[in-house]
Amino acid sequence: MKKRKILIPEPKSKFLYVRCPDCGNEQIIFDHASMLVRCGVCNRILARPTGGTAKIEAHVLKVLG
Ligand SMILES: [Zn+2]
Repeated sequence: MKKRKILIPEPKSKFLYVRCPDCGNEQIIFDHASMLVRCGVCNRILARPTGGTAKIEAHVLKVLG
């Protein structure tokens, strides 16, 4: 499976459907998260706040709206 980076400049905030690289748990996260987002199962960090779009550290499966 190919990893794809999403680098579309998009001022609108989005939700991302991601998969935890450690345990495979799938969950929805906010791409402008202002707090660390952790996997609900294994507590791995999935996204870090950067002041703008969060740095996503999980596999993005789908971008929602
Ligand atoms: Zn996990």
